[in-house]
Amino acid sequence: MGEYDIIVVGAGHAGCEAALACARMGKRTLLFSMNLEAIAMMPCNPSIGGTGKGHLVREIDALGGEMGKNIDKTFIQSKMLNTAKGPAVHSLRAQADKNHYHLEMKKTIEHTDNLDMRQGEIVDLIVENQKVVGVKTRTHTFYKAKAVILATGTFLRGKIFIGDSVFASGPNGLAPSNALADNLRAHGMKLRRFKTGTPARCLAQSLDYSKMEEQRGDEHIVPFSFMNDEVGTNQVSCWLTYTNEETHKVIRANFHRSALFGGQIEGIGPRYCPSIEDKVNRFADKERHQLFIEPEGLDTDEMYIQGMSSSLPEDVQLAFYRTIAGLENIRIVRPAYAIEYDCIDPLDLKLNLEYRYIENLFCAGQFNGSSGYEEAAAQGLMAGINAALKISGKNPLVLGRNEAYIGVLIDDLVTKGTNEPYRIMTSRAEYRLVLRQDNADQRLTEISYSIGLATKERFDRYLKKKEAVAQEVKRLTEKMVSPKESNDFLIAHGTSPLQNKVSMAELLRRPQITYEALKEIDDDSRPILSYHEVTQLEVQIKYEGYIGKQMQQIERFKKLEDKKLKQDFDYGQIEGLRIEAIQKLNQIKPASVGQASRISGVSPADINVLLVHLEKQRRGGNR
Ligand SMILES: Cc1cc2nc3c(=O)[nH]c(=O)nc-3n(C[C@H](O)[C@H](O)[C@H](O)COP(=O)(O)OP(=O)(O)OC[C@H]3O[C@@H](n4cnc5c(N)ncnc54)[C@H](O)[C@@H]3O)c2cc1C
Repeated sequence: MGEYDIIVVGAGHAGCEAALACARMGKRTLLFSMNLEAIAMMPCNPSIGGTGKGHLVREIDALGGEMGKNIDKTFIQSKMLNTAKGPAVHSLRAQADKNHYHLEMKKTIEHTDNLDMRQGEIVDLIVENQKVVGVKTRTHTFYKAKAVILATGTFLRGKIFIGDSVFASGPNGLAPSNALADNLRAHGMKLRRFKTGTPARCLAQSLDYSKMEEQRGDEHIVPFSFMNDEVGTNQVSCWLTYTNEETHKVIRANFHRSALFGGQIEGIGPRYCPSIEDKVNRFADKERHQLFIEPEGLDTDEMYIQGMSSSLPEDVQLAFYRTIAGLENIRIVRPAYAIEYDCIDPLDLKLNLEYRYIENLFCAGQFNGSSGYEEAAAQGLMAGINAALKISGKNPLVLGRNEAYIGVLIDDLVTKGTNEPYRIMTSRAEYRLVLRQDNADQRLTEISYSIGLATKERFDRYLKKKEAVAQEVKRLTEKMVSPKESNDFLIAHGTSPLQNKVSMAELLRRPQITYEALKEIDDDSRPILSYHEVTQLEVQIKYEGYIGKQMQQIERFKKLEDKKLKQDFDYGQIEGLRIEAIQKLNQIKPASVGQASRISGVSPADINVLLVHLEKQRRGGNR
């Protein structure tokens, strides 16, 4: 029926980014969803960002993706987390109006050139000679394509668990995608069962906020997108309350009725988003667990009960929710549930997210074994970029662990693999002082502009910021102040007076001094800088030493990353490599010695053997 460059199966957070990237890179793209009302659906928490996740959203934005802009249009509360800690872990988090988020993303898709969207269920992947050539729908319609991206989320063989009630379904009561799961298996794809869960939704008017702690948004709202300087205002609050011994008693008394403990669920769940029964079981000594009540939107009274996902029966859910301060008269409108679904083993993917065994088939999102809107969107964007580059015969875009959280995310998945839904955290990024939220554009926008995704407007804006920050760092470094000019100021800001002349930059390095405060002793050569520019300037000057040290570590890291390895090499030919290492290296076909060193089961001794082999090759002139 149709011929496209790229077809994207799934319009969740991964599929939307993939399709928009392909279309914006000039590829004729078709985006499928089983239900267009599920475009960019948030089946779980009504928020974007948070620790580590906020970094991903900034990187998606810097690369020319959509999530950052979409949440800036649809947020209802915004907060910068971890501000008491260093800039490496400052993380933006915004409450989204879920329905509005969906509508805005759908509108963007509808108005993007080169992009068609279609409601339909893909049941067959059409493969010829180990290369994908198209898809077929449940209505027996064939669509031809040079590449296909699978972003099917939690729908593949979706199964819902609420107590002893088990039934086939996708999230939120939507239909599951069973036929495609069977078809992928028929193509030899190894699929595994993962699971995740969500809490109940209740009506706002059934809650007693006088028994909870109000959680307000920040005074000054920081945009997610580098394309925005100012965005709207906070419109709602969230509310904090706690479980108690009574809650735990109800849950413990019903462990035997939980699908999780009853053994019905075979799928592996996310360690970092445990259900409440899992928390009560694992942290039995804890007197209480916190939970946040979060509005789902402005046009609804539905509230999300963060931290209380469960697969216990509905009567038990009602009983334990009612024990919680402020929820005594709760009226539940959607029960909590667990969902199990099929996903791929990411060790079967290359660093460009292409499936190893079927050419031009790319995979992204929850289907790759990750969990979270942001992780899905980041992979979708990279799968879209790489599908477009591949069919244009261009080199893939692979971001290094030193360049982006997206690089850490994808390298962790395809090199180390995961045995549970993978979620990003700042602790996973060894170079996190360099991979901050504020400099994502500095790290990524030029790369994206060079491959034809980031717009000229975005590139010019980045260049203007870069220039403004560089100019101001230079001015502050060259501008000297005397003790006479600044000691009253320094004492007023609780720091020690000067003995000799120093530069303004030197003053800014003091923790008590901000760029804003320096205004008091500055002259009118001081430029007007945007929020994004001031943040970057302050971090560059205040953390110069630490950043310098990290850059040296990165230089060492790059040495092994730059030692490239052939993709068709048989590691069985190298004498001295252990069997396990040979098997793992032949399975994963690492792109570099650096990547090889991160494969579990490949020891430092194996890496030495490999390095000696490469050196012999180089000297022998036969690589
Ligand atoms: C119950 C639940 C709880 C969750 N809890 C958490 C949590 O606690 N923490 C967290 O970080 N994340 C959680 N998530 C995960 C989060 O929702 C997902 O990570 C995110 O939505 C994944 O995005 P995605 O784009 O990969 O897939 P999805 O958003 O699931 O989108 C998949 C898309 O694929 C389409 N599709 C599927 N099969 C076909 C087919 N055969 N043909 C055509 N279209 C198809 C669907 O229509 C849909 O548009 C939860 C998800 C669910 C469902």
